[in-house]
Amino acid sequence: MYEKINVDLMNNTGIRVVDLRSDTLSKPTPEMREAMYRATVGDDVYGEDPTVAELEKRAAELLGKEEAVFVASGTMANLIAIMVHCNQRGSEIISGDCGHTFKFEQGGTAQIAGVHTAVIKNNEDGTFSIDELRKRIRKNPDFHEPISSLIIVENTHNICGGKVLPLEWLEKVQAVAHEHNIPVHMDGARMMNAAVYLNVPPSRLAKDVDSVCFCLSKGLGCPVGAILAGTSGFIANARRVRKAIGGGWRQAGIIAAAGLVALDKMIDRLREDHDHAYQIAKDISNLKSELFRVNLDEVHTNIVIMHLDERINPKEVQARLATVYSTDPVKVSVRCSARDDWIRFVTWWEIGDEEVDWATRRIISILQEFEHKFKYPPRSKL
Ligand SMILES: *Cc1c(COP(=O)(O)O)cnc(C)c1O
Repeated sequence: MYEKINVDLMNNTGIRVVDLRSDTLSKPTPEMREAMYRATVGDDVYGEDPTVAELEKRAAELLGKEEAVFVASGTMANLIAIMVHCNQRGSEIISGDCGHTFKFEQGGTAQIAGVHTAVIKNNEDGTFSIDELRKRIRKNPDFHEPISSLIIVENTHNICGGKVLPLEWLEKVQAVAHEHNIPVHMDGARMMNAAVYLNVPPSRLAKDVDSVCFCLSKGLGCPVGAILAGTSGFIANARRVRKAIGGGWRQAGIIAAAGLVALDKMIDRLREDHDHAYQIAKDISNLKSELFRVNLDEVHTNIVIMHLDERINPKEVQARLATVYSTDPVKVSVRCSARDDWIRFVTWWEIGDEEVDWATRRIISILQEFEHKFKYPPRSKL
């Protein structure tokens, strides 16, 4: 029997848990589990898994690229893309300073690929300055300098709160890259959210980049996997690199089957997740709090970033949201991620209307508690 596992009753105490830390917590849908059970499989290293082949073909079509390869994770897809594009020693990539490959992939670019990264400050919308990009590209580098070999863009932008890159900006990046004959890779872990937000086919987003990847295991609900796509030549090299880093897999059709369901059933429905995120954001914004701020214009997709006043410790708010006392008016434990001066809530298919309703009531109640505490601080002892 399938059950909603994330949104469960906490230790049978009757306390509901709504876990909004990340869409990577999404579980495969009942339909995916059924498809996985029935999947036809073979040895994919031998190129004989028909379900993997079908997924790769369908994904390439969706992205408007010649070919695609199914890999274990978004991190692996990015690493492979970097290793293929930067196959010359002394290569350098240019990336935003809040980029996932720069910040959150353990420096695999340097550690494994042996590639240097030049960063440009990211704007709040996930873009970076085109002028700065021009400056960073090393023209006719002499032997002191690395060789500019790849530009990376991220869509939606993770750290920037799931923001969607403007299409005109992508075109500008492509134009500069083309001028200097440097490829562009799009880390599109959540690019399907971007496509839904802009109401364009995913191939439109991938049009201005040479290679692109997306995660099947986030909002699309698959248990594991990501897709990397590009030209046939690029993908042939990507398959070689994938094997070298231990990513050649065997009867992977079992998980590719879930990917096929995701492509059919899980993309258009991302709109619901965006609506849910907006609903959470709107309720917080309606508080008109000076301590907790959400900018509604910034909520493009399934991620809500709540900015905290510097006097408030995000970890404290995070712990308070999760811990339910018998005296609490709303007995729901809400989990979220907390970093620096912000808190993040993320939605996906298992977070339905009801869960959003519980979560917002709880969030509002706890934020009001903090507001009250700050307005009427306990009197210090005389
Ligand atoms: C999640 C994410 C990745 C990494 O994907 P994994 O499948 O977790 O390895 C890469 N880039 C971005 C922008 C992401 O959000």
